[in-house]
Amino acid sequence: MNLALWLHRAGLSHGDRPALGLGTRAIKTYADVAARAARLAASLQQKFGLQPGERVVIAAKNCPDYVELMFGIWHAGLAAVPANAKLHGRELGYILQHSGARVCFASAGLDADIAPHAPAGLERLIVIGSREYDALFAADPVAPWQNRGDDLAWLFYTSGTTGRPKGAMLTHKVLAAASFAYVSEVNPIGPGDPLLHAAPMSHGSGLYMMAHVAKLGVNVVPESSSFEADEVMQLIDAWPSTSMFAAPTMVKRLVACRALCDPAQIKAIVWGGAPMYVADARDAIDRFGPRFAQIYGQGESPMTITTLSKQDIAERDHPRFAERLASAGRPFGCLEVAVADGDDRPLPAGATGEILCRGDVVMPGYWDNPEASAATLRGGWLHTGDVGAFDAEGYLTLKDRSKDVIISGGSNIYPREIEEILLEHAEVREASVIGRPDPDWGEAVVAYVVGDADRSELDALCLNAIARFKRPKDYVFVEALPKNNYGKILKTELRALDARRDKVERKN
Ligand code: AMP
Repeated sequence: MNLALWLHRAGLSHGDRPALGLGTRAIKTYADVAARAARLAASLQQKFGLQPGERVVIAAKNCPDYVELMFGIWHAGLAAVPANAKLHGRELGYILQHSGARVCFASAGLDADIAPHAPAGLERLIVIGSREYDALFAADPVAPWQNRGDDLAWLFYTSGTTGRPKGAMLTHKVLAAASFAYVSEVNPIGPGDPLLHAAPMSHGSGLYMMAHVAKLGVNVVPESSSFEADEVMQLIDAWPSTSMFAAPTMVKRLVACRALCDPAQIKAIVWGGAPMYVADARDAIDRFGPRFAQIYGQGESPMTITTLSKQDIAERDHPRFAERLASAGRPFGCLEVAVADGDDRPLPAGATGEILCRGDVVMPGYWDNPEASAATLRGGWLHTGDVGAFDAEGYLTLKDRSKDVIISGGSNIYPREIEEILLEHAEVREASVIGRPDPDWGEAVVAYVVGDADRSELDALCLNAIARFKRPKDYVFVEALPKNNYGKILKTELRALDARRDKVERKN
């Protein structure tokens, strides 16, 4: 299995087809992109002397070059390390040091952030679009390196909501399995179908890039490097049959956007990466129609653990539609998924436990971290750290990250359940529920809310829908919730914030 061949073959057989788009325009064909990847590979091997298996970091905002860089790196038998462009220079420095990369490609501007934190081993920091960069594409092309399925292709640093990020090793085989899973079970794309990279290419959106190359689609990058709902609407109109990956916060912003687009142009908007609350999912379907699919995955099993299909989301009359919409769907065909107790024993449908999975799409381990690899992959299963339950029909509902579960008065309380209720209130824009250490209860349920709701109304909503003991004991109204660079709410930070707040209040 060799991802480099996907682009190489497309260049040979369908060289005149569009491969890359920028904004509303197609800018390069498959022949162009394949040739540039082969030339870049030559420079990486000959000019820089990089040896097969070495890692090359890409610290870049979304740009069409991303596709050429990734495939050029694979063409040369190297591994790519895409790093989120919004990370701090210090964090990027850590990824450079930990991955042992000698070469890093960076967007203009980011090089200055990286430079003071660059480890001694970094030999070249090349700005994308610079003269030095352009010169790399002047070399004579080389033949694609004969990568094997188990070779490292993508070192995926986890978003690191706690502690140092870990590098999930994604091999050619893992990424191929994830791509096939996407094409067969999420979104059956065909030649010319655009993939709009509205979300970071270093993460979820980039993980769909290869499938769109394999199927001769067009990887389209918006002109603005950050997510702009207005621009996305415009691009949907410009690119018929568009697909894109969007985190739930992005879907919410599209729903709230005043600009209009023709929803019939959308082939699929795939949401995932964080919980999508039912109220938000319904709003999205009302606005754009049944053009959504959901995926549940993590860096360690990229984009591929379960999926709620477009068909499931379209079946509004199904008697169990509401439950299904609240779920993350059914396991992908390429892996086994289990819900297990603390001793890794599988639990029956209806029971809640940790979600485990195993299959060809699961990483073989973390880079240079045998302890974390052994702990996460013990017994041959990937321990996701997510808690959930299967229903009798095989749909998996995610409850929370195991470390976010609240234990109050000896009962497990899953914050998401309460968040779903709070978000039903029209004035609540965002909600995040955490546990606060409490002398009587162990932990007390506390709701952080963005919006203008009245606490008695929120309390009434909860009383109407969930057991009394799950009701928040305190509501804190805030302007915004702490989030990471991918828009995920940082509960660890929220708990720390709450502890500081609580201390101040006690003092007063
Ligand atoms: P990352 O490895 O940064 O992509 O984060 C993966 C984590 O995001 C998972 O372990 C889940 O906790 C969460 N996540 C991913 N997809 C979903 C989803 N569809 N619904 C709820 N949470 C999700």
